[in-house]
Amino acid sequence: MAFFGWVGKVLYVDLSNSKTWIESVSGDVYDKVLGGEGLAAYIIYKHLRGIKGPLDPSNILVFATGPLTSDIIPQSGRVSIGFISPLTGIWGSTHVGTRFAYDLKRAGLDAAIVIGKAEKPVYIYIAEEQADIRDASRYWGLDIVETVNSLRRDLNDQSIKVLAIGPAGEHLVKFSTIANEEGIGGRAGGGAVMGSKNLKAIVVKGTRPIEYAYPEELRRYVRELNVKLGSSARGASLRKFGSAGSVGVYNEIGNIPVRNFAWGRWDDNEVFKITGETMTKTILERPYPCTTCPVACKRFVRVKPGKWFDREFRGLGPEYETISLFGTNLLISDLEAIAKMNEECDRLGLDTISTGNVIGFIFEAAEKGLINKEIDGLRLEWGNADTVIKLIRKIAYRESIGDLLAEGVRRVSEKISGQDFAVHVKGLEMPAHDGRAFFAHALSFVTINRGADHLGWSHMPWRGIAVPELSINARDDRYNESDEVVDVVIKMQNLMTLYDALIMCKYAFSAGLTVSDIINLLRYTTGKEYTVATLMEIGDRIWKIERWIDNQLGITNKDDKLPRRMLTPHANRNDTRVPYVVEKWLPVYYRRRGLTEDGVVKELDV
Ligand code: SF4
Repeated sequence: MAFFGWVGKVLYVDLSNSKTWIESVSGDVYDKVLGGEGLAAYIIYKHLRGIKGPLDPSNILVFATGPLTSDIIPQSGRVSIGFISPLTGIWGSTHVGTRFAYDLKRAGLDAAIVIGKAEKPVYIYIAEEQADIRDASRYWGLDIVETVNSLRRDLNDQSIKVLAIGPAGEHLVKFSTIANEEGIGGRAGGGAVMGSKNLKAIVVKGTRPIEYAYPEELRRYVRELNVKLGSSARGASLRKFGSAGSVGVYNEIGNIPVRNFAWGRWDDNEVFKITGETMTKTILERPYPCTTCPVACKRFVRVKPGKWFDREFRGLGPEYETISLFGTNLLISDLEAIAKMNEECDRLGLDTISTGNVIGFIFEAAEKGLINKEIDGLRLEWGNADTVIKLIRKIAYRESIGDLLAEGVRRVSEKISGQDFAVHVKGLEMPAHDGRAFFAHALSFVTINRGADHLGWSHMPWRGIAVPELSINARDDRYNESDEVVDVVIKMQNLMTLYDALIMCKYAFSAGLTVSDIINLLRYTTGKEYTVATLMEIGDRIWKIERWIDNQLGITNKDDKLPRRMLTPHANRNDTRVPYVVEKWLPVYYRRRGLTEDGVVKELDV
């Protein structure tokens, strides 16, 4: 069967038996889950019974594209990666903004699925619906950028797209990334799953054109969309200041981590040094767009040689999460030092969110006397950027204390009896947002299926963005405790899950992409008609598949809980409100999602 929007084929690579094969995917599957994260969740759901553990060869890695993956559709250059997470032991997913997605589709595939474990380091080369498993011994040990560059050089082909792991993935760091020179799949430890399979990289070369049901209409629509998204107030602000344009305002309202989330605000003069506005005036060379993006939130920075860089650094700079977790969270206000931390994590293959969290946790543990204040000559203390940069390397290579920290906050806290100040949900470290600033955030943190996550929903209605098609108004009631907030959270979770299935960057939503725009893009791309209701059903279905996976792996209502710290007032604010209301909301949430009162999926429509 021929598809527009989808290819209808997925590639399986069995590394244990050195076999590859293609399977067809029926249109019914795409009708149910669309693609991207939906397809990844569906494949893991089908194979879950055979998966014996996150780092066992039986774990499955799915690299999936979506129906809107297209080199002409704005903000669609993303690949969704699904797996069972070594950090949390439950559903894990991550998304990379990269042209790899286009090339996978142009190679004739909607997804590449990797199972088994190679005997020695390998990479997979994919082109024209075929794959080779090739020796990667010479690349083992290289960082991510070196791996990409070396593969391009050795294959004599600058046009190939690569996703790779760095030393952190090779050393099975539980929060290691899958990444390349243009994007990072940071969360949940997919890099360690690749490392456990001896899989250093996946290379893809796509040569076929992507076919559309209505190509002329699509091109016309995209021209208009580019103008709308690029010229919206939020789009313009993201281009000017990057995501770090939110640092100042979040510091004001207590939505930023400070001192391992114990404080709700840091000194304005210190914070000013690391805002997006300051970056624009200092180290920013230019906004950097993912391909086809009219917004360009990424930052291409230039840092002169000095304390942190031996030579001039020109490359991707830190975004909001990184600046907050390494900056305000660790009381570091040196933007160039944070740029160095970011570069180290990106190249070595570490998630900056989890890394900033685990270092914040260990600083507090040292302060509380649970571990020595000085280890291997490193002073574990707030504000010590030199220590942070050295710890990053130790974590990536599992050296000394790095071996402990590489296990993530939950395991470290259990080992040293620091559970009271371990900030995670279901083992995934908290992003740079705070449930005490937006109560709806708190409910979403405990109900998103991969753990503490800010991307599985959006709090943008509380920042002035309405979604009329879902009957959601712009709101200014951050502490509203009514059950109506539960509906808003579910709707926003379903909408953002839809984005992950399409796949599109969520800043498209902030910049003004409406559900009607999505319906039009799907029509011109696939030739199929969707409604707001069917798209929201798809979002809900994917959420339930992931919850079902979590249920099978032991998750129930007992795990849907906030870390104690998020139920404690900020130590340095007297206006903090604590989201105890989550306990009242959860039974309502389960009912409205159609779960049992224990938070278990009753039936799946797949
Ligand atoms: S808004 Fe930023 S992350 Fe999203 S597609 Fe554009 S450049 Fe990439």
